[in-house]
Amino acid sequence: MTMPIDLRSDTVTKPSAAMRDFIANCDVDDDVIDVDPTVGALQDLIAEMTGKEDAIFMPSGTMTNQIGLRVHCRPGDEFICESGCHIYNYEQGAFASLSGLAPSLITGDQGILEPEQLHGMVKADNEHFAITRLLCLENTHNRGGGRIQPYDNVEKICQWAHENGLQTHLDGARLFNAVAATGISAKQWASHFDTVSICFSKGLGAPVGSALCGTKEQMYLARRHRKAFGGGMRQAGVIAAGALFGLQHHVQRMSEDHENAQKLADAVRATDGLSLPGPVDTNIVMMDVDPEVGTAAALAGELDMKGVRCLALGPQRIRLVTHLDVSADQTETACEIIQDTVKEVLEGTRVLSSTGAQY
Ligand SMILES: *Cc1c(COP(=O)(O)O)cnc(C)c1O
Repeated sequence: MTMPIDLRSDTVTKPSAAMRDFIANCDVDDDVIDVDPTVGALQDLIAEMTGKEDAIFMPSGTMTNQIGLRVHCRPGDEFICESGCHIYNYEQGAFASLSGLAPSLITGDQGILEPEQLHGMVKADNEHFAITRLLCLENTHNRGGGRIQPYDNVEKICQWAHENGLQTHLDGARLFNAVAATGISAKQWASHFDTVSICFSKGLGAPVGSALCGTKEQMYLARRHRKAFGGGMRQAGVIAAGALFGLQHHVQRMSEDHENAQKLADAVRATDGLSLPGPVDTNIVMMDVDPEVGTAAALAGELDMKGVRCLALGPQRIRLVTHLDVSADQTETACEIIQDTVKEVLEGTRVLSSTGAQY
């Protein structure tokens, strides 16, 4: 029995022996009373890489995003975001329940926004309206299939926001994928934003954690909010060490994940019954399943039994994500399994069992 090839998410990576060794040997101290030295080193490094004054380590990207919103906004304010974004779709509406904020949505093409779409989005100073305070962008865009926001768009959109008195926040959970794919540095991308959230537990391969980056004053407030949200962590160097190791060793290699994603995309293109809803820019491949083959959930269930794990994200859509723990050889094996399974179903030699929806 070989290990399954797990393409459900880039969050499934497990710490390597070298990472575990680094974690075992890191210095720790109480990060609530003071600053844990390993957390401090991680915060300094990610602040430097994003060109910000300071950074603060938190347990999740949901917390760094939600505290980012909290730092910029007051109850009753609204923030502008893309309708497919993580902050709106996958964080339980915490902006409303925890901070009293309203979202103002615009829909992009696979999450990609054009500068013209923003015009008229700042509400007038009128007592009927919420105060528009903040603009959020996501890069790369998760639900958009790992698409990269074009750099010129980001520059123009953030310039528009600042000219209109808005603050800007980047959900850069996968910003380093955009860096690897474009050659544009994290600092350059981040320069257009007041605050930036970075996840260490995605392509960087760490077990836990995210950072929020911004000015010293913003991070002072963020640290206060982190405590109130229950995110003050004591000897947090134990988890920060994994993140530090990921930042030091796993940035350059991310282009391998992108190459593997292109192999999967080629296999999808070459298979009757499967199609790509759009271009594949980074490490996420969205794959549409022709109803003739069956539902996404049924195909995902069958692939799972054959050792390829993936997620059904919609009635006919499956997501495949490449990462540190999927080699080029495993990617080729996954391509063969996917192609053979769909071919057999269309030829009538394999019948998909109907499994429950996962999305
Ligand atoms: C994963 C992710 C997050 C944060 O998720 P957590 O599971 O809370 O760490 C935020 N934004 C995007 C775009 C993501 O993909």
